[in-house]
Amino acid sequence: MNKEYKKSITLIIIFTVTISMILTGYLTYLSTNFTTNIMLDIVNENSFRQVEACSNAIGKWVGNKEKLLFEWSKMIKSDNKVSKNDIKIISPKLDYASNQFINLYIIDIDGNKYDVYNQHTNVVDKLAFRKILDRQKYCSNEGLVKDSLILEMIIPIVSNGDVIGAIGGDLDIKYINEIIEEFKINYAKSYSYLLDRDGNVLLHPDMSMLKENVTIKSDRISHEIMNKFKSVLETSMGILEYNFDNVHSRGYFIEVPNTNEWRIVTKISTASLYTPIKKKTNRLLILATIGIFLIGIVSIAIGRFIAKPILRLSEDVVNKTRELEETREYDKLKTEFFSNISHELKTPLNLIFSTTQLLELHVKDNNSNLDEEVIYKHAKLVKQNSNRLLRLINNLLDSTKIESGFMKLNLSNVNIVELIENTTLTTIEYAKSQGKEIIFDTDVEEKIMAIDSEKIERVILNLISNGVKFTNQGDVIMVKIKDLNNKIQITVQDTGIGIPKEYKEKIFRRFTQVHALYNRQKEGSGIGLYIVKSLVDIHKGYISLESEVNKGSSFIIELPVYTNTEESIMNEKKIPEHEGDARRDIEFSDIY
Ligand code: ADP
Repeated sequence: MNKEYKKSITLIIIFTVTISMILTGYLTYLSTNFTTNIMLDIVNENSFRQVEACSNAIGKWVGNKEKLLFEWSKMIKSDNKVSKNDIKIISPKLDYASNQFINLYIIDIDGNKYDVYNQHTNVVDKLAFRKILDRQKYCSNEGLVKDSLILEMIIPIVSNGDVIGAIGGDLDIKYINEIIEEFKINYAKSYSYLLDRDGNVLLHPDMSMLKENVTIKSDRISHEIMNKFKSVLETSMGILEYNFDNVHSRGYFIEVPNTNEWRIVTKISTASLYTPIKKKTNRLLILATIGIFLIGIVSIAIGRFIAKPILRLSEDVVNKTRELEETREYDKLKTEFFSNISHELKTPLNLIFSTTQLLELHVKDNNSNLDEEVIYKHAKLVKQNSNRLLRLINNLLDSTKIESGFMKLNLSNVNIVELIENTTLTTIEYAKSQGKEIIFDTDVEEKIMAIDSEKIERVILNLISNGVKFTNQGDVIMVKIKDLNNKIQITVQDTGIGIPKEYKEKIFRRFTQVHALYNRQKEGSGIGLYIVKSLVDIHKGYISLESEVNKGSSFIIELPVYTNTEESIMNEKKIPEHEGDARRDIEFSDIY
């Protein structure tokens, strides 16, 4: 019971700790995920801020250039018509070092473009010119200086509400590149590029990309990218996830101010974005897992430590309950024992008393029937009952001797086979008179060993007398000896009523009687087997019982074989036969 209690407490501790560990583990997992997301948000936010700052810087640069063009356009507007000659007015403004324009030009209303290097072209079919007629500014390189790293900036010149021409200039795009470099985000494989409103790539670290328009399908621009970029051009800022050149990336995009809705896109590969965060959170997760395990182990240890006194207490309770039960049982046995003893004392005493009364009557009446046979019969009865009283008193004395540890062995080197055979022989006739047969069997003729002959004789007589007592007419009692070299095995076996399994151990305790009702007729005090076991014990031997109800019982004794060196075999004590008979009479005195 206590083991079960211990087991369930241990199970509760392990279960509770495991559940808390799983829950804590799960919570940690959730919180690391949460942390990952927060970290990603922060990275997103920072990336955005960076792109925004970069975009503002570019916007400011473009705005400044536009402002310059506007300033210069005012000088032309006076004639109300832009003409070839006007280029002379703005030519002096081309100061590469201070304003970064590498070319300046004017465009008249018919699309004739005249630059400071005296170049003349007609741009009437170009997108830029159409925008200008629409009063829009143009800031790109499409169609004018395609594939070059030159940015064309053209603004319309308006007079009295009409477009009268345009002023423009070429800018070296490397200046924008410098700005982008300044705001570069520190991630592997990360870069920024510029798109104009129509999806033309204005600036890209990969020069081959300058030919591309992200809204037009090509070898590099897949259908998916194309669609994604279309929505980028429709939104002023956002994040776009896409696969480009087999790298999964995130693009942070934002509109560049002062431009024709350019978009600056900063592309970061998702792996390089996630990896440092994942690394950190994984480290956190590993540390947390180790921590949880350590806490688990410590919790189990603490749990066990706390549970220890409870377990000890429960153990105490179990032990005390067992002790109480044993005491109760012992008490019950004792009460039964005393009533048995009274009966055991009274029966022979009554018989002795009535026999003497009868004899007295015979003498008084001068009864002629009082022949020798009657006197012998009466005397035998008195003797047997006196023996019975003697046996009981001996047993009681011995049991108290054993209890108090005063039972001493009187060892001598004896041929145990002979001793047992002789003891058995004295009982054969007696058993026969009860209708029972006694058989002696041995596989060894002589075994000299140090024993207390009287005590061993008592053991054998007691077991045989029990065999006779608890068998029916026609049953057999076998006394067998087996040589086990360093041990000798003595078995007293019967084909009698048997003993239930539950009595296997109890039977050797004091006052235990199995067949109480039956016993009333058979007589007994329940201390015979207790004495038998005690006598075997002090010989350092071992007694056990094998029995089956209604089939019979076997009492098996094993005694260690050794001889007493101080004593020679010559000193071997022979028991006089008549003494053996007397002891048999005493042991068998309660069998009628
Ligand atoms: P008792 O003086 O009552 O015989 P024991 O200690 O010798 O006391 O025996 C205890 C009980 O064990 C007996 O009362 C009987 O119920 C049972 N017992 C002993 N020997 C045998 C046996 N050979 N067969 C069946 N029952 C036995």
